[in-house]
Amino acid sequence: MQTELFINGRFVPAASGATAPTLNPHNNRVIAEVAMAGPADVDAAVDAARGAFPRWSRTAAMERGRLLLKLADAIEAHAEELARLESLDTGHPLRDTRALDVPRTAVTFRYFGGMADKFEGSVIPVEAGFLNYLLREPVGVVGQIVPWNFPLMFTSWKMAPALAAGNCVVMKPADLTPLSSLRIAELMAEVGFPEGVVNILPGTGPHAGQYLAEHPRIGKIAFTGSTGVGRKVVAASAGNLKKVQLELGGKGANIVFADANLPAAVAGSAFAIFHNQGQACIAGARLILHESIADAFLEHFVALAQSLRIGDPLDPATELGPLTSIHHRDRVLDYVALARSEGADILCGGEAPADAALAAGCYVLPTVVKARAGDRVEQEEVFGPFVSVTTFATDEEALVLANGTEYGLGAGLWTRDLARAHRMARELKSGMVWINCYKRVNPASPFGGVGSSGYGREMGFEVMREYTQAKSVWVNVDANLQPYYPRPTAPA
Ligand code: NAD
Repeated sequence: MQTELFINGRFVPAASGATAPTLNPHNNRVIAEVAMAGPADVDAAVDAARGAFPRWSRTAAMERGRLLLKLADAIEAHAEELARLESLDTGHPLRDTRALDVPRTAVTFRYFGGMADKFEGSVIPVEAGFLNYLLREPVGVVGQIVPWNFPLMFTSWKMAPALAAGNCVVMKPADLTPLSSLRIAELMAEVGFPEGVVNILPGTGPHAGQYLAEHPRIGKIAFTGSTGVGRKVVAASAGNLKKVQLELGGKGANIVFADANLPAAVAGSAFAIFHNQGQACIAGARLILHESIADAFLEHFVALAQSLRIGDPLDPATELGPLTSIHHRDRVLDYVALARSEGADILCGGEAPADAALAAGCYVLPTVVKARAGDRVEQEEVFGPFVSVTTFATDEEALVLANGTEYGLGAGLWTRDLARAHRMARELKSGMVWINCYKRVNPASPFGGVGSSGYGREMGFEVMREYTQAKSVWVNVDANLQPYYPRPTAPA
C-alpha cells in the first residue's frame, strides 16, 4: 500500500524527504516507513484543497453523497483487509476491528452520503413584506487532526460530514497510526473523488499539526485529541479566527445503583473500560458503585477482568491487545505507581503480563484500583485498561462524584428505577449519557463533550451545522414598500 503523503490526488514524498517508521505494538517491529509532512507539505495540501473547493462546493449535493456512498461500499468490499491493517498498526483486537471499527467507518460514510442532499437551509418567519431565508454554506478548506486511538473510524467521523457539506479537507492522522487513513485515501481516489478535495498528511503534532492549526488560509480546524493539545489548537487558531471544533479527553463516570441488573452492569462496565484497552475518550474509567453492592460487583468484575484473553491482536480470539505505543504503556504504568503512592488498593493487574510471548509488546493487564475521590488517578485521564473505583450511599453523593472532574464527555448509569435514571441523566455534567448500556455510538446521534472535554459535536445534523456557515438572505417582496427616508422620486 501507499505510504507517502496524499496531496492533490497523488501520493508524493514529503518535501523534506522525512519519513518515520510505524510500529506493530504487539512486538514493536517496523511495519512500514511513512512520509512525514512538514510546513511545505501543509502549504501544498492547502493550495490543492483551495483549488478544488470552488468546483466541489458547487457539485450537486446528491453527487457528493453518491461518492461517499461509493466509498462506504468500497470499505465494505475491503473490510477484512482494513480490519487487519488497523489491528496491525494500532493493536486493536481483530475481533473488534472486524465487528466495530470497520463497520462503523462504512456506516458513517454511508450516513453522511445520505445526508448530503438532505441537509437544508430554512425560511425564517420575519415581518410582513420580507422573505428571509437561511443558506447553509460550506466553510471552505477545513483542517482536521486526529489521534491514534481509533484512526480509521475517526477518518470517517471527521471527513464524511465535512465533504457532505461541500468542504475540502486537509487531514493529519497521528504519526503513530497513519496506515488506515492512507488506505482510505487510495480508496477515495479509486471511487472518483476529485483531486484536491481530500489531502492526507501523516506527520507529527509540532511539525505538521501546529502549522495546520495556525494556517491562515483554512476556515476551520477540527481537532480530536488531548485537552492539553486542544488548548494549543485554540491558541493557534487565533491568527485568522478560524472556526474550532474540539473533541478532547474524558474520565467517564459509570454509576451502578443498588437496584441494577448486576450481571448486565458487570459485563457492560467491563466493555466500557477494557474495549480498545481503555484507549477511548468515552471509556468508563471511573466506576462509582453503591456501597451495598460494591463487594458483590467487584468480585464478578475483577474475575471478568482477569479472564479477558490478552494477546496478539491479529489472533481472532484475543479480547485485549497491546496499548498503541511503548511510551503510552509506560505512561499507564506510571499511573499505577501513582495509585500505589496515593494509597489506592490495586485489586488486579497493574503490570505487564508475565507471558514471555508478549514481552516485546506494549501490554498492560486489566487494572482495577480502589481510589478515593480527589485522588489524581480518579481525576486524570489514564487512557488505558485502568479503572478507578469509589463508592456512594445516596444519589446526591453519586452525582457529586460523577461530576467531580474537569471533564464531561460520556457517563453511564445502571438502575431499574426509571425516574431516577432520567433525573440523573439531566444532572450529569456530560455530553452523552448511557442508561443501562455504555459507549453506544451511531452516526445519527450527536457526540461530544462539555467542560475540558471540548466543544462542538460530531455526528448527526449537529455536525452539519459545525461544517457550514449560516447566511441570512433578506428579500423585499412588498411592491408598495414605503421608503424609510421619503424623498421626491427621481424621474425615470
Ligand atoms: P494528542 O493530543 O497528543 O494528539 C492528537 C493529535 O494532535 C495527533 O494527531 C497529534 O499529532 C496532534 N498534535 C500534537 N501536538 C499538536 C500541536 N501542538 N498542534 C496541533 N496538533 C498537535 O492525543 P493522543 O495522545 O494522540 O490521543 C489521546 C487523546 O485524545 C486522549 O486525551 C483522548 O481522550 C482524546 N480523544 C478524544 C476523543 C473525543 O472525541 N473527545 C476521541 C478520541 C480521543
